[in-house]
Amino acid sequence: MRDETPRVRTLALDVPGWPGHRAGQHADVRLTSDDGAVAQRPYSIASAPEDPRLELTVSLLDDGEVSPWLAREARPGDQLELRGPVGSAFSWHVGDGGPLLLVGGGAGLVPLRAMVRHRIAQGAATETRLVVSARTRDDLLYAAEHGDWIAAGVSLEVTLTRAAPRRRVDAALLSAPSAGARPHVFVCGPTAFAEAAAEHLLDLGHAPERVRVERFGGALKSTNSIGFAKSR
Ligand SMILES: Cc1cc2nc3c(=O)[nH]c(=O)nc-3n(C[C@H](O)[C@H](O)[C@H](O)COP(=O)(O)OP(=O)(O)OC[C@H]3O[C@@H](n4cnc5c(N)ncnc54)[C@H](O)[C@@H]3O)c2cc1C
Repeated sequence: MRDETPRVRTLALDVPGWPGHRAGQHADVRLTSDDGAVAQRPYSIASAPEDPRLELTVSLLDDGEVSPWLAREARPGDQLELRGPVGSAFSWHVGDGGPLLLVGGGAGLVPLRAMVRHRIAQGAATETRLVVSARTRDDLLYAAEHGDWIAAGVSLEVTLTRAAPRRRVDAALLSAPSAGARPHVFVCGPTAFAEAAAEHLLDLGHAPERVRVERFGGALKSTNSIGFAKSR
């Protein structure tokens, strides 16, 4: 159990019989309260398939039902019910090749971290660009690992939305793919973030079938919808 930020915690789980997963997939966590009420939510798997334990990184929503227990109350030795892995469309294996363009907002970095760790564990040289949006530098997840990612050849760009120099992920930051390059693109984060980033990517000329989007929920800021299916 590790605090990533004051509001985000990583849980490391021993899962007997876990069948293995592809980087990017998620698991459904089911909690049963003392009075028998059941709540189930999906959480991306933060660890690479090669890691010894299954890790989930949970961001606290103050008025949430499940995240406060996972991010605040869970203690070592507690047991969880887990179903998965789920969501093979939003997943990557080194054998799928590259280049990789990973775009994460807030906790949306979680499944992208699994992909980066998988690439590193496999010793692959897949061209990888990771664009991360966080509120402030203190909200950046896995900051202690970023040096290792960069040393392994991952190009990491961080943009902060609530600290100078404030900037949201925009088309210029994502920049156009070079001619002939057809990166595998994975976008993940709160719904409004994911929709906006995906729209920029399509405007930049990325092929829709190469852009996979995982939306974590939360209100949409606008009612627009874009023309490709959810990855799940
Ligand atoms: C495929 C998938 C993977 C996910 N992976 C992760 C992960 O790795 N880490 C993580 O922290 N979360 C992740 N989520 C979000 C997670 O499943 C829960 O939705 C989240 O933890 C809130 O659950 P809750 O029970 O605490 O809140 P709820 O009781 O479900 O909701 C409380 C309030 O918050 C709003 N809300 C719900 N979800 C969000 C959100 N994401 N952002 C803002 N407001 C919201 C609701 O509309 C409601 O008003 C993922 C979601 C999906 C679909």
